[in-house]
Amino acid sequence: MNSNKGSDAVSQRIQAMANRVADLKARDVYFYNMTVTDILDDSRVMVDGRNMGMYASYGYLGLLGHPRIGAAAKAAVDKYGTGTNGVRTLAGTLDLHVELEETIADFKHAEAAVTYTSGYATNLSVISTLMGRGDWVISDKLNHASIVDGCMMSGALFRRFKHNDMESLETRLKQAPSDVSKLVIADAVFSMDGDIIDLPKVVELCKKYDAWLMMDEAHSVGVLGKTGRGIEEHFGMGDVVDIKMGTLSKTIPSVGGYVAGKKDMITYLRHASRAYIFSAALPPAQAAAANESFKVILDEPWRMEKLNENTEQFLGGLKSAGFDTMLSETAVVPILCGDDERAYELTAAAQAKDLFVLPVVSPAVPNGLARLRSTITAAHATEDIAYALDVITEAGKKIGII
Ligand SMILES: *Cc1c(COP(=O)(O)O)cnc(C)c1O
Repeated sequence: MNSNKGSDAVSQRIQAMANRVADLKARDVYFYNMTVTDILDDSRVMVDGRNMGMYASYGYLGLLGHPRIGAAAKAAVDKYGTGTNGVRTLAGTLDLHVELEETIADFKHAEAAVTYTSGYATNLSVISTLMGRGDWVISDKLNHASIVDGCMMSGALFRRFKHNDMESLETRLKQAPSDVSKLVIADAVFSMDGDIIDLPKVVELCKKYDAWLMMDEAHSVGVLGKTGRGIEEHFGMGDVVDIKMGTLSKTIPSVGGYVAGKKDMITYLRHASRAYIFSAALPPAQAAAANESFKVILDEPWRMEKLNENTEQFLGGLKSAGFDTMLSETAVVPILCGDDERAYELTAAAQAKDLFVLPVVSPAVPNGLARLRSTITAAHATEDIAYALDVITEAGKKIGII
């Protein structure tokens, strides 16, 4: 028995977190894990017995609860049950998985695609399978945590470039020896700031320095491009991204992650990536729901149009009220508050008026850049957005943010 237990470093970490949570709860500014008890429609939820407008959803096209997607999931449960008997390579591959991967490859205009059970597992496994000791991975400073973890797990030399700064990216590429494999990775739309990577310049640099290119499209599929296909369509660039990564848990109302690209690369991942080989396959209902969702996106182009209109109304409205929305051009809309306390105050004021919106504070973002991280979707009604703008503007004035 370790006599130190109770006062060792692990215990201290656990205690420090318990203290921090208790302090936030005592001050009534603990906004984590608020429990949704009902999804009323695509843009409203029940929280704590209250009917609130949803401004924290990643479901950018309002597909959650779509009848076609729900029916596909139910049919899959009726036919296959709720699980998959294990991993894909042994007994776990269903025709539903094959169909989903074909649908994704088609949607992304790629030769092939492979799915995993989460976006997080996809990044972790794909990056660490493709890259290894002696290689270089070059990652935008604001990339998602799953990318950072994948880079670290790969054992490759891990270098960051300044956020969306192409000079900084070129400096990094120049530093890498010409004979090593290089991978450049970025979010297509940044998950906290809502800005868009400068893909044309990134592609040019990757060509110049012989680097592979990976894009994380968690927040760009169903958001960018005329038909919602994402970053390449947005810039009218065709097939320029080697590793097209995305998740099935945001615009696509299911769970899981994928990578699309050249056939041989996908075959390699299918036989070498550990999250594919050693973790169970996607459940039938989730695979079927995801498959149907990509089809709905293409069949209902009005959703993209409505999302663009709503983004313009919401983002434009906040800007003209005087809020700092950073560099956002998309449905991810940061509302900069300054210190953590102000972000808590604005959150509390918005929630008091039935807006479900949440703060992001340090250490998730640098000190002084605390914000509300609001999102807008195709499901919001024009009048509801106008109401949200009024509430946030009035509160922002009272708190002294604008
Ligand atoms: C959410 C997210 C992921 C992880 O996806 P999950 O399916 O939730 O595991 C990966 N990358 C980015 C940029 C994300 O926002």
